[in-house]
Amino acid sequence: MQTRVIPPAEGAYEYPLLIKRLLMSGSRYEKTREIVYRDVLRYSYPTLTERIARLANVLTEAGVKAGDTVAVMDWDSHRYLECMFAIPMLGAVIHTINVRLSPEQILFTMNHAEDRVVLVNSDFIGLYNAIGGQLETVEKTFLITDGETKTADLPNLVGEYEQLLAAASPAYEFADFDENSVATTFYTTGTTGNPKGVYFTHRQIVLHTLAEAALVGGVDSVRLMGTNDVYMPITPMFHVHAWGIPYVSTLMGIKQVYPGRYEPDMLVKLWQEEKVTFSHCVPTILQMLIHCKSGEGLDFKGWKIIIGGSALSRPLYEAAKARGIQLTAAYGMSETCPMISCAHINDQLQGASEEERTRYRIKAGVPVSLVEAAIVDTDGNFLPADGESQGELVLRAPWLSMGYLREPEKGAELWAGGWLHTGDVATLDDMGVIDIRDRIKDVIKTGGEWVSSLDLEDLIGRHGAIREVAVVGMPDAQWGERPVALLVLRDGHALDAQGLKEHLKPFIDLGQINKWAIPSQIALVTEIPKTSVGKLDKKRIRLDIVQWQADSSPLLSSL
Ligand code: AMP
Repeated sequence: MQTRVIPPAEGAYEYPLLIKRLLMSGSRYEKTREIVYRDVLRYSYPTLTERIARLANVLTEAGVKAGDTVAVMDWDSHRYLECMFAIPMLGAVIHTINVRLSPEQILFTMNHAEDRVVLVNSDFIGLYNAIGGQLETVEKTFLITDGETKTADLPNLVGEYEQLLAAASPAYEFADFDENSVATTFYTTGTTGNPKGVYFTHRQIVLHTLAEAALVGGVDSVRLMGTNDVYMPITPMFHVHAWGIPYVSTLMGIKQVYPGRYEPDMLVKLWQEEKVTFSHCVPTILQMLIHCKSGEGLDFKGWKIIIGGSALSRPLYEAAKARGIQLTAAYGMSETCPMISCAHINDQLQGASEEERTRYRIKAGVPVSLVEAAIVDTDGNFLPADGESQGELVLRAPWLSMGYLREPEKGAELWAGGWLHTGDVATLDDMGVIDIRDRIKDVIKTGGEWVSSLDLEDLIGRHGAIREVAVVGMPDAQWGERPVALLVLRDGHALDAQGLKEHLKPFIDLGQINKWAIPSQIALVTEIPKTSVGKLDKKRIRLDIVQWQADSSPLLSSL
């Protein structure tokens, strides 16, 4: 195609999209807004900029160069925020270590990412030292403390973070470089095999930040975060850069509150004292928050929370609403930086019933600007956006991981046919709304029908006795698979498989689910296994059920 490309004038500055650019505007707008870390530390935006320069000097002094990978093992903190800027701004890559993985998995990811330098919170010294002997590329370590005087038992220790920053120069001239340079990397764990590394460039993170800012600040029906809001993440910063919101908040000059290790009492205290108005988390964390002791009886009015990472069920939406929390569903994954779509109530829906609006508030929602979404069948044919046809959700956007780190075959699978394959079954309707039906591997194939485990969890969760539920398909000689439900009951309630059947019967009569969807067995448990990022761990749940079935465990009740 013959388009018209005009070469730049001599001397014209060809502005690269670099993460350093995101840092400029926050302190330009707001000199006094604070970055707060628990009840330990608070400072203003100009200090943030200075501290990032100090950190860059410390890292440079320690030998960190462009292209190196620098890993962080910390809870959500101001230090993490500083690292999310300083490390990529040097041209190095920040590896945000998932501290919830097993030591073997952490070791694998650190060797695979070729981490050269590691910043270790004192809480993880034991963990680090357990694997330290097998780390192949790490040359230097930094210690992170909250000011406590712990003896630092770390090999090749350069020093303690705060002390080093205090001694460093508060100025650093950050060079320009190619906007396609990798800025961040982290690992996603699948059902099988080793964790896979995803990676994002400066250009991708800048574009993602701008689109996310336009979404949270600009779309009236979800108006989540403006400059007067106060932000506190409740998603770990190692999980897809806390969904990119620290970059958005910094761009906007918003007060940011970092809670450290997630302790319900501290979260509630910070919410109250710092007047937090905007957060994001996975459903299980919200469950924990609204049921925790220190939150009991509190009216959380004015708290806007994005729920992502798993489906937002109607019972949780209603429970949060009753406590004053406005929930908005969003969808994304590690491979997608993560923002893909967000619930939106358009003009057409504004006029609909409350019931209809709620249905749309809990769906994955509308693809955000620049994202293209489609659904395909198993042969890769595009399916119609009719709200009925179900297929795999495939995506295009400027901020999708371009493959898996040093795994070309898995990368090619992810990108088969030029679209990123999500592994999620979805429908698209004529308003462009994505509804995630299930993960492909979690759909229950029973009696020749497909049952969505997410649908079933939503309907089962409406039973008044149930606090938490997970449904998986288990092999069955006659039906292929049958659903089995794990339930946590509310205090003082009882339920058996027959009682659950009676609860589900009306939904069958209404045609919302088919008769094979009724769980053949339920297990009453006190806790449901969760993954390292707080989602239902269906792999573990299946293994537990196999064991209970083999042992004829009294936890199980059958129809
Ligand atoms: P992860 O890579 O750990 O962030 O997991 C991404 C996966 O979480 C997606 O592929 C979906 O299966 C699931 N997920 C994320 N957001 C939603 C949502 N709003 N509704 C249903 N599932 C979701």
